[in-house]
Amino acid sequence: MTANDDTPDSDRREIQRLREIIAHNSDWLWEVDAQGRYTFCSGHSQQMLGYSPEEMLGRTPFDFMPPDEAERVGAEFALIVAEQRPFSGLINRNLRADGRMVVLETSGIPLFAEDGTFIGYRGIDRDITPAIGPLNPRLVQLEALYAAAPVALGLVDREGRLVNANHALARLLGTEGQPVTGHTVARYLPPEQLDVIAMFARLEAGEEVPGRELTKVGRSYQVTAQAVRNLDGTLIGMTLALTDVTELQRVRLQLAEANARLANANAQLSELAETDYLTGLPNRRRFDETLLVEVARAVRERLPLSLLMLDVDFFKTYNDHYGHQAGDECLRALARLLREGIFRPADLPCRYGGEEFAVILPHTDALAAGQVAERLRTQLQAAGLPHELAPTGQITASIGIATFDGRSSARAGTGGLAAELVGVADRCLYAAKRDGRNRVTTEVL
Ligand code: GH3
Ligand code: MG
Ligand code: MG
Repeated sequence: MTANDDTPDSDRREIQRLREIIAHNSDWLWEVDAQGRYTFCSGHSQQMLGYSPEEMLGRTPFDFMPPDEAERVGAEFALIVAEQRPFSGLINRNLRADGRMVVLETSGIPLFAEDGTFIGYRGIDRDITPAIGPLNPRLVQLEALYAAAPVALGLVDREGRLVNANHALARLLGTEGQPVTGHTVARYLPPEQLDVIAMFARLEAGEEVPGRELTKVGRSYQVTAQAVRNLDGTLIGMTLALTDVTELQRVRLQLAEANARLANANAQLSELAETDYLTGLPNRRRFDETLLVEVARAVRERLPLSLLMLDVDFFKTYNDHYGHQAGDECLRALARLLREGIFRPADLPCRYGGEEFAVILPHTDALAAGQVAERLRTQLQAAGLPHELAPTGQITASIGIATFDGRSSARAGTGGLAAELVGVADRCLYAAKRDGRNRVTTEVL
């Protein structure tokens, strides 16, 4: 719109007339190039934004908006440019040079070169700040909070379209600067991930939408949805809040794994605490616990229960003669023999202490217990473990058996009966020793 020296007079007058129209128009007129940079500005930029036309040239409209607004309007404008279509009524917030906010309403038409190439836009901005009144600072604050919230927030209308989405939601949906508003949720999150229709059906039925989780590009989100209703209660949409729970899940998983490892370690520990280190047999602690349980069961079910105590004969001299290590080996051999010689799953062979072993025989009367003991004794004999200093020339054992017949009554409780069983078995054991060793003695309580 420059008038050169060779411009005809009629054209000069026309250009002057246009200048006056522009200058006296209360709207701000402008032109931008294909990159959105101002190439022409009327003087109104000074009143509206506090910058002279010279200061405006080369900058884009988005340079004068707060960042979140620039992002929002930029995305909207990108769509308009992509279609190279005219637009009007694009409302946008701008920061004046003095820091005040001004709300402009922008309209424009695309410009094309003679060969049809798109070269930019020409348009007007109208200051609508007075029309909408002073901006409610609370609203501005809330809007800022909403925009910057780390939780992905959005508003969905009854058609399942996004009416609003904050930055976090736009990022989550992976829209890369394209506006998400106006598009359906299903476009970004198929029903397998988020079934908006089903959610609306629940809200419509007056039910709550249960919390759910969805996964998007390797991250997990906890979804919360809430109804948005009109004053008359009509359901007009719903809010969506998606919290990133990936880290939480990872920690949860780690915790579960750690707990499983801990439970495993605890199980191993209690196994160790109840196992004899030398022979691998259950130890005295396990013996005591099991005996109480079995005695209680025998009393309750009126079933017989036998306790068998086994003590190696002349073991002190064995140790003295063959050495302590050989003694240990002999005890291990005995443990193997006990394990192999006891068949019923409920029977429990244990190392009672030193070279004494015990076997708890639930549901076993004196006769059957005597048979088990005799079998063990002969098996040991058959094993033929040499013991030069013993009269038989080999390792033998004496066995004492105490049997609760299941009928005896008026006992001093489970503990008393268990102690009595041990005492009687011990007494029988020493009777067997006294009577010449390598034998079995039984007593019924
Ligand atoms: P008796 O026929 O009367 O039972 O004679 P004994 O020598 O076996 O009797 P005593 O109970 O006096 O001896 C038990 C010996 O068992 C004492 C100890 O040297 C040995 N002993 C106890 N525990 C162990 C063990 O863990 N390893 C080894 N090698 N020897 C043990
Ligand atoms: Mg002993
Ligand atoms: Mg002994």
